[in-house]
Amino acid sequence: MAYGFDTLQIHAGARPDPATGARQTPIYQTTAYVFRDADHAAALFNLQEVGYIYSRLTNPTVAVLQERVAALEGGAGAVCCSSGHAAQIMALFPLMGPGKNVIASTRLYGGTVTQFSQTIRRFGWSAKFVDFDDIDAVAAAIDDDTRAIFCESIANPGGYITDLDAVAEVANGAGLPLIVDNTSATPYLCRPIEHGATLVVHSATKYLTGNGTVTGGVIVDSGTFDWSASGKFPSLSEPEPAYHGLKFHETFGPLAFTFHGIAVGLRDLGMTLNPQAAHYTLMGIETLSLRMERHNENAKIVSQWLEKNKHVDAVTYAGLPSSPYHDRVARICPKGAGGLFTIALKGGYEACVKFVDNLELFSHVANLGDTRSLVIHSASTTHRQLSPEQQEAAGAGPSVVRISIGIENADDLIADLEQALEKAHS
Ligand SMILES: *Cc1c(COP(=O)(O)O)cnc(C)c1O
Repeated sequence: MAYGFDTLQIHAGARPDPATGARQTPIYQTTAYVFRDADHAAALFNLQEVGYIYSRLTNPTVAVLQERVAALEGGAGAVCCSSGHAAQIMALFPLMGPGKNVIASTRLYGGTVTQFSQTIRRFGWSAKFVDFDDIDAVAAAIDDDTRAIFCESIANPGGYITDLDAVAEVANGAGLPLIVDNTSATPYLCRPIEHGATLVVHSATKYLTGNGTVTGGVIVDSGTFDWSASGKFPSLSEPEPAYHGLKFHETFGPLAFTFHGIAVGLRDLGMTLNPQAAHYTLMGIETLSLRMERHNENAKIVSQWLEKNKHVDAVTYAGLPSSPYHDRVARICPKGAGGLFTIALKGGYEACVKFVDNLELFSHVANLGDTRSLVIHSASTTHRQLSPEQQEAAGAGPSVVRISIGIENADDLIADLEQALEKAHS
């Protein structure tokens, strides 16, 4: 019998420690692992036997987290990384090469827009940004050098839900992998693999850990993509010189991407998650469903209250009946629209600055997905380098404040918002 989500978030990947019986997963704070003998060492280095060599590649605490997130997403395997941004580079790394491109949604986390529009060019990669509500435009952007399609399930800065089924159909038709950043939804609200995603990436920094203590990332592999079909993914289908000509797809089948991510990606790029961080994230995941239910419930109550407030121009929460994406919630995120949305204030830039300065319970920080409620005025912080047009396109215009609703008492959140809105508009 397959276990339910609440059971898996506590048990998947973990078993009592074989050495001590410890019930909780120990933090294996070790760099290296003693080989049984020289033959054992050789087999490990040839990938003929799976085991622990060196913690840049594999670590038992990190391995439990990998298995747990893979189970929650319904994937074949997973690779943990040092941050969400590391996960994105690690996801693209085996697929891309100089001159190759990724088709990316215009609605993405601000840091991802910068990573994709600027930094990946240093590798000779590029991104083409498209409005993913225009499915024909997504299909039209694909060319012979396209190697992946990338979007977020619940997209930043909140209130937008991507039609994953429609995007997956385009990706499938073109023989390309679909990568979905599921950070804002988490596998509790959305399971992208069930909608056709090839890879799912996470910033574990956010809801998975859930309390603002860790920087981490995960890539989950669905195990369903045929890397050998088109000849476009030689890192996975062709002989790997650094492993005596081993072909990852032929040898590891549905785990080809996962093994490549560890044996080549972590080995050579070194974007490794440390066991202490993996421990914090494992602790967070044990209560993921409970927290997400409260994030949903609070966001619904608070967004409904904000929508009626006289100082508020607009509220983008996809969980509101007024949202143009309300219908997609039932199909893509059946358990709810999450805790992230934006509001626009009638008083514009000045009112937003006063509003965030006067909040007492909400913190003004560059983070989201915490147990505590957070806000950010993007135009004066993360997006201040952008032109007014770029700010509008990113959903971060001067009058917009992004809100990440925590799991406190909704009445207290509303009282804090009310007093800060009054002061902002006086
Ligand atoms: C935070 C975030 C990232 C980046 O993750 P880090 O852990 O900060 O590197 C990527 N995507 C989304 C949707 C995020 O919220």
